[in-house]
Amino acid sequence: MRKKILAGNWKMNKTSRELKAYFEVFLKETKSIDVAMGHDFELMFGVPFPYLQEAVKASQGKALIAAQNLHFEKSGAFTGEVSCEMLRDIGIHSAIIGHSERRQYFGDTNEIVALKTKAALASEILPVICLGEKKEERVSGMTFNILKSQLEPVLQILSPQSNVVIAYEPVWAIGTGLTATESQAQDAHAFIRQQLSTRLGQDFSNKTRILYGGSVNLKNVENLLSQPDIDGGLVGGASLNPEEFAHMAIITSKLSRR
Ligand code: PEP
Repeated sequence: MRKKILAGNWKMNKTSRELKAYFEVFLKETKSIDVAMGHDFELMFGVPFPYLQEAVKASQGKALIAAQNLHFEKSGAFTGEVSCEMLRDIGIHSAIIGHSERRQYFGDTNEIVALKTKAALASEILPVICLGEKKEERVSGMTFNILKSQLEPVLQILSPQSNVVIAYEPVWAIGTGLTATESQAQDAHAFIRQQLSTRLGQDFSNKTRILYGGSVNLKNVENLLSQPDIDGGLVGGASLNPEEFAHMAIITSKLSRR
């Protein structure tokens, strides 16, 4: 059985003071599922680079703390970038890769996403690889073609032993308040899982977690995460509020025991 993941993507939000206050509230609100966190399901927070270590401390071992990006080169003249070795050096073992905002504003192509995934795996950093179609692509019936082309370079560098997480995030649903219906999300997840199976085998496909992202919140999390191929959520806006995200964690915990 695949362990569910509830991941918050804080993007470029929160200061050091706000981070500490957040985890105080979050850990208090999740006291009742204290033991389940990390055991029955995994929690993850994508935190801005300067606060990664602080988040490790403040989350008290209950959550994976992930970088929101990384560079695929080991070192060198790449001003403003952070390598996998640097992340490992400060105790970070997971990273979000290829988020649609990175693709849109910072030129992360499918090939760059594959290079970053390869570098992450070489450093034993768990990559959360994001993909998803734009609105016009869905409207024109191109969703599966887009998902296939986004997956292709990544599948080329994976082996059946690779440990990765995939996040299906339709771009039109990110930060818009529009959510894919459960069946739209489930169909996309089933398609992605089928691609994994075709290229890397049934075992790989069965073990790989596929998260849904796009305006997940307290109201829709239960229905979305109940779909057979949805193994968790990647949550932007709603993860910024510690009470709301704590309640989403409680729901995820309940689903994990089913
Ligand atoms: C995201 O940042 O990955 C995301 C899905 O954002 P939101 O939940 O705000 O749509």
